[in-house]
Amino acid sequence: MKNIAIIGSTGSIGTQTLEIVRENKDLNVVAISAGSNVELLEKQAREFQPDIVGIWDEDKAKQLRVALSDVNIRVVSGMEGLVEIATCHQSEVLVTAIVGMIGIRPTIEAIKAGKDIALANKETLVTAGHIIMPLAKEKGVKILPVDSEHSAIFQCIHGECSNDVDNEISRLLITASGGPFRGRNTEQLKDVTVEDALKHPNWAMGRKITIDSATLVNKGLEVIEAKWLFGVEPENIEVVVQPQSIIHSMVEFEDGSVKAQLGTPDMKLPIQYALYYPERRYLKGDRLDFTKMSGIIIDTPDTDTFLGLNFAYEAIKTGGSMPTVFNAANERAVALFLDKKIRFLQIYDIIRSCMEAHQVIDCPNLEEILSVEQWVYNYIEDVLEL
Ligand code: NDP
Repeated sequence: MKNIAIIGSTGSIGTQTLEIVRENKDLNVVAISAGSNVELLEKQAREFQPDIVGIWDEDKAKQLRVALSDVNIRVVSGMEGLVEIATCHQSEVLVTAIVGMIGIRPTIEAIKAGKDIALANKETLVTAGHIIMPLAKEKGVKILPVDSEHSAIFQCIHGECSNDVDNEISRLLITASGGPFRGRNTEQLKDVTVEDALKHPNWAMGRKITIDSATLVNKGLEVIEAKWLFGVEPENIEVVVQPQSIIHSMVEFEDGSVKAQLGTPDMKLPIQYALYYPERRYLKGDRLDFTKMSGIIIDTPDTDTFLGLNFAYEAIKTGGSMPTVFNAANERAVALFLDKKIRFLQIYDIIRSCMEAHQVIDCPNLEEILSVEQWVYNYIEDVLEL
C-alpha cells in the first residue's frame, strides 16, 4: 500500500490523481487540500476517507468542519494547514497539484520531512529550483515529474543516467502544441477573448496553465523546470512545436541518438508513472494508432509573436530572483486577463515591465523569493496601476 497526500486535489491534476487512486487498490489517500471548493472537497473526503483535509480559507474551513462533523476527519486551514497536509506522517508521496507560488513552502517542508514529491506545480522549481534540488539530494528524496514533457524526458533517460551509467545528454527537445493561437500574428491577437484563449486544441487543463499555453509562457516555465530537474543548461534545451501532442518530448544523447516518448494526450499517464516509478501499470484509455496518422508534424515556435519563451530564456540567463519575477508577473497578469481587466497582449507588457524594473538578488532564499513575489504584485498595482 502506498500512502499519498495531495495539495490541490480539486483541480485538473488533483482530480485525475484521484481517478488513478480509484483504479488502483494499493494507493491510499491520507491527506487532501484545496483553495476554496468546499463542495468537491467534502465529496472527495467522503469517498477517499483521508485523515486530514485542508482548505485555504478559514471561513470555508469552518463550513467544512460542520459538513464533515459526522466522520472522523480533521480539517485544517491556511498555510499552516497546507504544510501539515504536505508533511503528514502517514504519507510517502506528496502530489503537488496546487497552482502557483503558494506551492513552494509546503513542497520544501515535505522534502525536509523525507516525502517523495510527484511534482506538477512547476512554479516551485521555476522560482526555487536552486533550493529544492540540493535539498532533495541531501534528504534522499525523489522529485518525480508530473508535467507531461518532463515525464517524457524522465522516461527517456531511465537507465541512461544512474549510478552505473552516466550517458551524457547533449540536448533536450521539449515539445509544444503551439496552443489555440498557433499561426496567428500579433495583429490577430489584439482582440482575442478569455474564452478563445481557454480553448486548448489537445489538453484539458486548469485555466491558468491553459492561458500560459496560449502565450508560450508555459513552455518557458518548462524550460526553466527542465534545467533544474535534469541539470541541462538552457542553451541545450530547445522547444519544438508538435501540434498533435503525440510526442511529449525528446532527449538527444552525445552519440546523436534521440529518444522520444509518445502517447495520447492524457495526463493520467505521467501522474501514474510518477506514483509508481519505476514500475508501469495498466492504464485505461485510447492507444496511438500509427496507421491512422497522416504524419507527425514538427515545427519551430513563433517567438516573434509569442514572447513567453523569450522572457523565460532571458530570466534563466539572468538567474537569481529574475525567474521569480517572470513567474509572479505572469501569475498576476494571467489572473487580470482571466478577470477581463486586461487584454491578452498586455500579459507580455506586464512581464516585460516587471523584469526591466527589477533589481536582481543572487541566489535568493525562500523569504527573499516571497518578498520578490510581493514586490512584483505591488509594482503591478502601484506603478502599472492595474
Ligand atoms: P487547477 O486550477 O485546475 O487546480 C488548482 C488546484 O490548486 C485546485 O485544487 C485549487 O483549489 C488549488 N488551490 C488554489 N489555490 C490554493 C490555495 N491557496 N490553497 C490550497 N489549494 C489551492 O490547476 P491545474 O491542475 O491545471 O494545475 C496545477 C499545477 O500543475 C500548476 O502548477 C500547473 O502548471 C501544473 N500542471 C498542470 C497540468 C494540467 O494538465 N492541468 C499539466 C502540467 C502541469 P480550488 O479548486 O478550491 O480552487
